[in-house]
Amino acid sequence: MKETDIRRRKLFDNYLSTIKKDIPIYFKERGLFQAVSCPGCNSKRHRSEFKKNSFVYALCDRCGTIFVNPRPCFKQLKAFYVDSASSRYWTRKFFPPVAEARRREIFRPRAEYIGKVLSKKNKWTVGDVGAGFGLFLEELAKLKPSIRPVVIEPSVEMADICRSKGLEVIPQALEDIRGWDRRFDLLTAFELFEHLYDPGQFLKKIGQLLRPGGYLFLTTLNGKGFDIQMFWEKSKSIFPPHHLNFFNPGSVATLLQKNDFIVEEISTPGQLDWDIVEGMILKEKIKVGRFWQLLAKSKNEQAKKALQDWIRKYQFSSHMQVLAKKK
Ligand SMILES: [Zn+2]
Repeated sequence: MKETDIRRRKLFDNYLSTIKKDIPIYFKERGLFQAVSCPGCNSKRHRSEFKKNSFVYALCDRCGTIFVNPRPCFKQLKAFYVDSASSRYWTRKFFPPVAEARRREIFRPRAEYIGKVLSKKNKWTVGDVGAGFGLFLEELAKLKPSIRPVVIEPSVEMADICRSKGLEVIPQALEDIRGWDRRFDLLTAFELFEHLYDPGQFLKKIGQLLRPGGYLFLTTLNGKGFDIQMFWEKSKSIFPPHHLNFFNPGSVATLLQKNDFIVEEISTPGQLDWDIVEGMILKEKIKVGRFWQLLAKSKNEQAKKALQDWIRKYQFSSHMQVLAKKK
């Protein structure tokens, strides 16, 4: 898989500039922003690292989580996600050309991974939080036809798309759901955790909705991942107000344990770190160390693949996957 299979460079750049235009519309009231302690370990020992799109990112001294501080309040974020121009751009322009590649390369492998946790006969209720186009639930239902798939999706357009596919939809943000306590056997949240105003509160709510022994399966960005560490504030993965939290394998485990989850597995199965770095060096002319320039220009694909394998194996990919179980 290559970066351009799942993220077309030009469309992605347009998407990033649409977000920049949304910022003064949805986030002009800076008085509503709230100062927070580290969303991973709750420490107050952190320092400002850099500013991007007028948002300040802090780095926690204790656990290495990178986070926007002060950050927009929940209400501002919700308005932005439900119906902003950039949300519509994502749904209408950015996602459709890469949807099938994402289904094949990303959602099907995830369904296969979690399919091993589910036994054959069970009638599990599976909720996908921020389900987007519903691709994961569709793939899981193909593998496990006895499940009850439930889309949890506050975006008006994406909720409609999921309904048109015949999926059951709760058209709300997770934080607002009522009447579903202990009813889920599995909840999934893909590329969502980095967007949350309050990840701790989110986990508390997940804990309420899961039955005891139920599973949470999530993916999120790893702030200690290769391309993020390489480019830091220039990394395209760091784009506020979308990405507010960059946990890492250690800090996400701390947060889960604090909220009564048992961590079953944390891995970084990302495949794109080197490809992203190479693209930044060759296409966007971003300067990094001499050795990385050399590798980017080299035609030695085997060496690049071996590097990516090493990045995955030692948890240095910026794409992180977590399976946890509610106590
Ligand atoms: Zn921390």
